[in-house]
Amino acid sequence: ESFWAAVGAGGSGAPTPSSSDNIRVYVRVRPPSSREAAAGVPPCLDVLGGQTVVLSEAGRLDPFTATFDRVFGPEAGQEEVYAAVGAQMVENCLAGFNSSIFVYGQTGAGKTHTITGDVTRGEDGALAEQCGLTLRVFRQLFDRITDEEQGGVRYTVKCSYCEVYNEELSDLLAAPGARAAGGLAIREGDAHRGVCVEGLTEHVAVNADDVMGLVQRGSANRHTAATRMNERSSRSHSVFTAVVEAAEAQADSGVTQVRFAKLNLIDLAGSERVGKSGATGEQLTEAKSINKSLTTLGRVVTALTERQQHVPYRDSRLTFLLKESLGGNSKTSLVACVSPCEDSAQESHSTLVFAQGAKRIRNKAVVNQDTVGDLRALQLENARLQRELAKKE
Ligand code: ADP
Ligand code: MG
Repeated sequence: ESFWAAVGAGGSGAPTPSSSDNIRVYVRVRPPSSREAAAGVPPCLDVLGGQTVVLSEAGRLDPFTATFDRVFGPEAGQEEVYAAVGAQMVENCLAGFNSSIFVYGQTGAGKTHTITGDVTRGEDGALAEQCGLTLRVFRQLFDRITDEEQGGVRYTVKCSYCEVYNEELSDLLAAPGARAAGGLAIREGDAHRGVCVEGLTEHVAVNADDVMGLVQRGSANRHTAATRMNERSSRSHSVFTAVVEAAEAQADSGVTQVRFAKLNLIDLAGSERVGKSGATGEQLTEAKSINKSLTTLGRVVTALTERQQHVPYRDSRLTFLLKESLGGNSKTSLVACVSPCEDSAQESHSTLVFAQGAKRIRNKAVVNQDTVGDLRALQLENARLQRELAKKE
């Protein structure tokens, strides 16, 4: 069945399909690292019944208990997390809804493992077992696109990958010499297309291998661009975005109807408090400005859950860039990553409190649709042919 049937597009006066949902919030507890295991650090988190997490700290009388859409214990593998969190994103995207997945948590809690993981091929050519959400989402997306194209729908997938560091936005896929000094500007596009980044390069992907290449390239830039490598990667936010366009010619009217959806996969900076690392004076000021995007994210979440009149999206690059994903036109999931061990109990507690707050955000997603002229239809047909060719090689 064509997806147009599902949304009733093409009929005059049909309402734009929409759906109003709370952000889905998941918790993932990683296994103890070999260092933690060797040092015998005691665990402080228990998972009960798949939806509840209990944090008990020595010296704290009452354990802290919280419930989420799902809690993944240390034994949960990458495929299990994908099946619960990522698979629905593909369906939402094909139905024309924007969707976003955020990973949140302290440095070392498993954010990058969850969203990116191992992005190389195994010896048998299959995705690596430790491959994270991004490639699993795109593998499934391209499989589903192939099915839909047999029904006469034409797809284009355009990807971009950027980083927010120290309130500067940079393009992780730009040619090395072409990176704009001072960062790229964000502007509010039309109501339809949402926020856009000026000069951010877009790359057409025709299969999951293309996406793999882009993620590898961008991730490498994320690391080598800095002298203080670890510092930077734990303090920067990265956003992988794909705009998926679907076009179908309407036999009766001859018009091509287009739907598009934006997919965002967001690896947030470490949420640990600055004070803990002993930063003072100038260093502290710097750290605060670096984390402005993260503190603003907290304030945006609070403003949304308390239904305040003013939501401070524009106070940081990250929240402005992801405005639609937070209380706007998007289906959004948050995976809060935590370490299981007692020496991280305080940070895990604050991560769980943040995640609890996020559960109360409501988004309203609408199907993005449009009609286009012949030129665009040709471009889409061209992209489809490229994909066919790539398949045959
Ligand atoms: P973050 O991005 O939050 O700083 P990482 O994703 O880099 O943390 O994880 C830190 C380390 O722990 C990495 O070596 C990663 O491979 C490992 N790790 C994290 N989560 C898991 C998990 N669920 N299973 C196995 N290893 C994990
Ligand atoms: Mg990381």
